[in-house]
Amino acid sequence: MSAFKTLDDLGDVTGKVALVRVDLNLPMQDAVVTDDTRIRAAAPTVLELAEKGAKVLLLAHFGRPKGERVSTQSLSMVVGAVEKVLGKEVMFVPEIAGDVVKQAVGILRAGDIAILENTRFWKGEEKNDPELVKAIAANADFYVNDAFSAAHRAHATTEGLAHVLPAYAGRSMQAELEALDKALGKPEKPVAAVVGGAKVSSKLDVLKHLVTQVDHLIIGGGMANTFLAAKGVDVGKSLCEHDLTGTANEILDTADTAGCTVHLPYEVVVSKEFAANPPSLRACNVHEVAADEMILDVGPLAVEALSDVLKTCRTLVWNGPLGAFETVPFDAATVALAKTAAALTREGSLVSVAGGGDTVAALNHAGVAGDFSYISTAGGAFLEWMEGKELPGVAALSV
Ligand code: ADP
Ligand code: MG
Repeated sequence: MSAFKTLDDLGDVTGKVALVRVDLNLPMQDAVVTDDTRIRAAAPTVLELAEKGAKVLLLAHFGRPKGERVSTQSLSMVVGAVEKVLGKEVMFVPEIAGDVVKQAVGILRAGDIAILENTRFWKGEEKNDPELVKAIAANADFYVNDAFSAAHRAHATTEGLAHVLPAYAGRSMQAELEALDKALGKPEKPVAAVVGGAKVSSKLDVLKHLVTQVDHLIIGGGMANTFLAAKGVDVGKSLCEHDLTGTANEILDTADTAGCTVHLPYEVVVSKEFAANPPSLRACNVHEVAADEMILDVGPLAVEALSDVLKTCRTLVWNGPLGAFETVPFDAATVALAKTAAALTREGSLVSVAGGGDTVAALNHAGVAGDFSYISTAGGAFLEWMEGKELPGVAALSV
């Protein structure tokens, strides 16, 4: 990870105008915010800048209005929820550049906060149009990016602004980058990665990158079936991408060359139907799966063996559940391995970083999300980072 400036590097910002890119792409129902996690993530940066006396202008996108003003996607809808989290009054400005913003800046006092309109109402946002970048920057003195979740996109407000204004990482961006660096940048070895989820095809680049980076790759979930099939195992009616068995073998070969040990389940939980607690449920060796059975979770003995692997490791990065965790008892392997990782982290012997929509849900379900060293809620950006890609929004911050 290259170096970047943080809020610690700011001089006196009293009365200066800060453009702060945050993630306000909030879950909403009938124009009401149903989950304020992302606001709470941005709050430390916004409040710190306000306390330092800056005039804080928040920039964010909401939904996919594709360069048009769509009234049902106006960020005016989130003002109340943001005020509630910040405990401060917040002004709404229905533009992102030009005289209206200039006038608002004139009205704001040092320490005041405003939310500008949905950046994606302007076509230049997603095109990273230099004219739009210039126009937004014209009303401000410096730029802070606190939206890691949008950093995989080179848009005007996620990347462009960093080139025309003094640029800083916000606290939430800083925490994310530091955690990810500890997990894959300069990790303490041995490093284990858990990759699960439904399909190999959705995580090919993640697997290809990880086998060159980690000491142990634990593959679970539906994607393990494709690897088992590649090794000649009959996986019955399991979810399996038979057309990708060649690719799976290539990944196993790369792992071999790189000295990465790949752990596939040798024992699995199977059932004839996909339902909660089905009567046909059983655990068996991978070589004993019947033609009419589906593999829906890693077996209890295999999970114990995986726990033993984690006990020998210092760092863990995890994306994807080990089984169809939404349906009991196919959550068992994910919950058991998550509990082991959590206990090792609490003891101080493991740095554990996890991310992915369903992964975060699974770790919450296991009741251990708070025990992991870091949980990323960044979705697409987290996966691109796991693929070893340089994120444009992060690269633009580097000094
Ligand atoms: P994330 O959102 O954390 O990146 P994914 O979306 O890749 O994770 O994968 C999660 C999905 O994979 C879950 O819906 C889960 O039910 C499914 N899954 C895991 N194991 C299996 C399996 N053996 N068979 C079918 N689906 C599975
Ligand atoms: Mg998912």
